[in-house]
Order: sequence, then structure tokens, then C-alpha cells
Amino acid sequence: MMENRVALVTGGSRGIGKSICLELAKAGYDIVTCYTSKSAEAEETVAACKTFGVNAVAYQANVANEADVTELFAQLKAQFGRIDVLVNNAGITKDDLLLRMSEEVFMQVIDVNLKGAFLCCKAASKMMLKNKYGRIINISSVVGLGGNAGQANYAASKAGLIGLTKTIAKELGGKGITANAVAPGFIQTDMTDQLSEEAQNFWEERIPRKRLGKPEDVAAAVRFLASEEADYISGQVLAVDGGMSC
Ligand code: NAP
Repeated sequence: MMENRVALVTGGSRGIGKSICLELAKAGYDIVTCYTSKSAEAEETVAACKTFGVNAVAYQANVANEADVTELFAQLKAQFGRIDVLVNNAGITKDDLLLRMSEEVFMQVIDVNLKGAFLCCKAASKMMLKNKYGRIINISSVVGLGGNAGQANYAASKAGLIGLTKTIAKELGGKGITANAVAPGFIQTDMTDQLSEEAQNFWEERIPRKRLGKPEDVAAAVRFLASEEADYISGQVLAVDGGMSC
């Protein structure tokens, strides 16, 4: 019997990342995830994944820190020996208008959202190349496609992820590895709960699908792109946004 495929989902302690962990666990993947601050939440994700009969583990690792990423992959390799799917989901926002945004705040968001994904892609692809199989899925955003006032750092990081994704698709496509980006619209998580009810209602009215997104909407798209059936899809950006960006 073939052993389970192994998926690393960064930032799986809550929100979209947690939902992706559960969806992939339900599909039979062993799950590795990481977080920086809330170990109890990450352990809840792990316990929920295990109810599907798969192995799951969470490590504390800041994806923006190269030493943490090296250690994360060393632990993953020691425990599972392989990685089939990488989902770069960990992300933060630190919003401000361009003229008020400090260099430090700009770089904090770039470091987590873009450099963190780069470090994980590099480490994962080394292992994927050995098996001549891999699925890399980067969680971008509709903001990376169209920009957003007050989010210069976030929009740049999410647009950068699209360039990173397309480059990996071109560099590693011949080695059995696909790379795609998912661009969620307005998904209800801790990240968007910071917005006022008024802002949430504004978007609900304008989204063609007439509802805000759920983490499960994004997780279903990731599950498909992670599957063997998605073998001929690479270098693409799949918007999961209820029609918001069309
Ligand atoms: P969230 O609820 O804030 O969760 C973020 C997750 O990432 C948490 O598990 C967090 O855990 C982890 N994380 C943050 N910084 C990290 C770091 N440096 N290293 C490792 N883990 C880290 O966010 P979300 O709304 O689920 O968003 C998930 C992804 O989807 C993000 O990339 C976000 O940009 C993207 N997205 C979200 C929306 C939306 O509407 N919600 C729309 C488009 C795109 P700790 O806090 O413990 O580190």
C-alpha cells in the first residue's frame, strides 16, 4: 500500500490555513503545519486532522526566518521523509496609506508573505525534485491582482507571489512539479474581522455572488490544485472571490 502523501500548510492554526489542513486531511494527506504564536490553536488543527485517520503535526516556525524554515524542513524530513504538497498560506497585513507607511512596516509584510513563501518553495522543491512530484500552491489575493488603497505592502507581496509562482512553474514543470496561486477575495477570518460591519456589508452587496467567502471555499480550490488530476494546470492564478475581480 502506498504511504500517505504529505502536505505542508504554513499558518494552519486558524482561518484559511486551518480549513486547508482539514480539507487535505479529509482527502488522506498527512499534514504538517506551522504557526508563530498560538500553539493551542495549532494543536486543535492537528487534533481535528487526526480525526480523519491521518498523521498530523504542528511546529512553531516563523516563515520569514530562514533558520526557522531550515529547522521546519529538517523536522518534516525526519518525521515524514517526503513532501508532496506545499501550501504557502501564512500571511499578515499591516495596513497604512503609502505616504504614512514606514519602510519597516513595508518590509515586515514582504518578509512574511513573500520571502517566507520563497524560502519554503526553495526548501520544498529540493525534496520534491527527488520524487519528481510536487504541488506548490501559493495563497495570493485579489489585492495582488488589482491593488488596494492602504495596502501597498500587502498588495506588493501578493503580486510578488504571482511572479514567484509563474517562475517556479517554468523552472520546475519538467520535473513533475506544478505551481499555482489561489487569489481569495473577501474571506471571513480573523484577518477580515478587523473590518467594520459597515465595510463587510459594503462588500457583501458588491460581490456578484452576494455573500462573503468562507475558508472552506478556498480550501476546496486548494484541494483540487493539490490533486494528481490537476497535473496539467500550472502557472495559473485561480481567483476564489465570488466574482469580485471579474
Ligand atoms: P489569519 O486568520 O490571520 O491566519 C493567519 C495564519 O498564518 C495563522 O495561522 C498565523 O498563525 C499564521 N502566520 C502568520 N504569520 C506567520 C509567520 N510569520 N510564520 C508562520 N505562520 C504565520 O489569516 P487568513 O485570513 O486565514 O489568511 C490566510 C492567507 O490567506 C494569508 O496569506 C492571507 O493573506 C490570504 N488571504 C486572506 C483573505 C481573507 O479575506 N481573509 C483574502 C485574500 C488572501 P500565528 O499568528 O500564530 O503566526
